[in-house]
Amino acid sequence: MAPPLLYRDALFYMHEPPDHHVEGPWRLETAYRALAESGALPGFEERPAPPRQRVEKELLLVHDESYVRLVEKLSRRGGGYLDADTYVNTYTYDAGLAVAASVLDAVREAVEAGRSSLVLARPPGHHAGRYGAAMGAPTLGFCIFNATALAAIRAADLGLRVLVLDFDLHHGNGTQEILYTEPRVVHLDLHQDPSTIYPGTGWPWQSGEGEAEGTKLNAVLPPYSGDDVFTYMLDEALELALQALGGTPDIILVDAGFDGYRGDGLGLLDLTTHAYQAVAHRLRRLGAPVVTVLEGGYSEGLRRGLPAYIAALHGLGAPRTDEEPTESPRSVWREAEENLRRLKNAVKATP
Ligand SMILES: [Zn+2]
Repeated sequence: MAPPLLYRDALFYMHEPPDHHVEGPWRLETAYRALAESGALPGFEERPAPPRQRVEKELLLVHDESYVRLVEKLSRRGGGYLDADTYVNTYTYDAGLAVAASVLDAVREAVEAGRSSLVLARPPGHHAGRYGAAMGAPTLGFCIFNATALAAIRAADLGLRVLVLDFDLHHGNGTQEILYTEPRVVHLDLHQDPSTIYPGTGWPWQSGEGEAEGTKLNAVLPPYSGDDVFTYMLDEALELALQALGGTPDIILVDAGFDGYRGDGLGLLDLTTHAYQAVAHRLRRLGAPVVTVLEGGYSEGLRRGLPAYIAALHGLGAPRTDEEPTESPRSVWREAEENLRRLKNAVKATP
């Protein structure tokens, strides 16, 4: 079997903030160095982003033209802020297209050759909705174009059973908004309780609309959830997702954020390498090619969570074994059970 692909491109580093910002190119340097130190890199075949011209038109499947032109114009003018959180510079527009071109190429490789991929790219995309900020969110949360949503639709067009799994700390509200009425894609999103963190959406009852009702699953993790609660929610919610999918997926698109790692800086989850290994083991068991797209992760999560995930998913590099799994307080367990009950009701209530 051909080795997994690692998409990496100079453009992914050239989207740079004008001043101090938590989301910058050093994140990719941190991630890449962590993979190198774990010994994972030789197991990948590296590939630059493929040509991006054709992607421009494809983006209109997931974004309104007015939004795409807004990003392009701001970028061509030298950059600025789209909102309080989200910057654009001269290279942002091209970098956003390059991310989408890479994810689409990764899907093609998955379909044609059964290959898995890691798209080590930025700007991130899972908060980007059809018109920009999604589902009433105050900002785009550092995101520009939603490559995962586009790739999911393209994979569904090929007749594949598509599972999107988002385990970033934050709700993938852009992805959910774009796919909300798309019945062919099941989207499972695990995230910190939206009443306690940006973007404020991702409730169990937000389960899709029309024919797509019951295909969007929001598994809500209370603040201070440890590896135990995370893994429990993952197992229960994944089973529901597979039911909604009507079987095992043909392809899995992962919006991989490592900002739920304890001490990564933006949230209140208490996850360690054990949680990310647990995700990877379950994905592996499903047997379908996995296209992993980097979303969040700002410090420790990239240094430790990412290599642990890759080691467990692809058998590349040494898994870290130097930390104990975290245990959640009783009150967190109780809340998590309640959130799960709501999720089950939301999915069951659908025809
Ligand atoms: Zn995040």
